[in-house]
Amino acid sequence: MSNLDVKPAATVCGGRDDVSAAPVRELLTGREVPLGESTVVRRLLPNLGRRMVGAWCFIDHYGPDDIASEPGMQVPPHPHMGLQTVSWLHDGEVLHRDSLGSLQTVRPRELGLMTSGRAIAHSEESPRDHARYLHGAQLWVALPDAHRHTAPAFEHHPVLPEITGGGGLHATVILGEIDGAASPGTIHTPLVGADLTLAAGTDARLPLVPDFEYAVLTMSGEAEADGVRLAPGSLLYLGCGRRELPLRADVDSSLMLLGGEPFEERIIMWWNFVARTSDEITTARTDWTTGSRFGDVHGYAGPRLSAPALPPGPLKPRGRER
Ligand code: MN
Repeated sequence: MSNLDVKPAATVCGGRDDVSAAPVRELLTGREVPLGESTVVRRLLPNLGRRMVGAWCFIDHYGPDDIASEPGMQVPPHPHMGLQTVSWLHDGEVLHRDSLGSLQTVRPRELGLMTSGRAIAHSEESPRDHARYLHGAQLWVALPDAHRHTAPAFEHHPVLPEITGGGGLHATVILGEIDGAASPGTIHTPLVGADLTLAAGTDARLPLVPDFEYAVLTMSGEAEADGVRLAPGSLLYLGCGRRELPLRADVDSSLMLLGGEPFEERIIMWWNFVARTSDEITTARTDWTTGSRFGDVHGYAGPRLSAPALPPGPLKPRGRER
């Protein structure tokens, strides 16, 4: 997935200032962003009220959309730097191509994990013959300074650990670990991502780590997390200091749990890049425009994305300062 904003703002995030050391219940709604011709996504991070949850720095929720008579997702080749992308589907499929030569269809409840390191390019599309519904989330994880210049990599993990808790709760561990069940996906800071299925009538408690900050994204249904009723496409920030999360649902529902150690480094995000300085962003944009560093994506039917114009002057944060 690419940030397709015509005029993307730069976002400065990371550090301890935004982190709530104690449990909170901060409900965030998404901003609708068009993605290509036919898709609208809800962007939950970065949000005016919150920029990161652990190393998670970008969350788009999309669908469920009926794409039976439409091309569906069509995101042309575009670059990334300084981050990992996580593709997570509940319905449909996404065909991933990248400049390493990867060609992989990612299906529901399979992990597509791309580590950009210093530079990678990729495209994402609904295959020609696709399922009727497309529903999923695209997430980015910021890489810490020690790993952000590493070689790019793509991992596909079709089988992930599953936990059946009591009380109707079922969890799939996407990244990190819950209760001793660890995902095979490579991570570079302590974090967790999980898909939570709550059967109708669920009343359960999910174990958490007090040092992590957490949020839950509602995918479908109408669950309650720590007493807060959640509509699909909303994000509830929970802060740090929790040992467990009470979860309830009267109807079949699903959530994504996202958490991690607060990300201490200050980062600058612009378009599809995570960097530490304005100059790094400018150089990355030039390298993409001149066709160097990021490599070529083969097989996508159409031109690659052009980088939007940089805002004038040094990149500065937009939105509420906390
Ligand atoms: Mn992308």
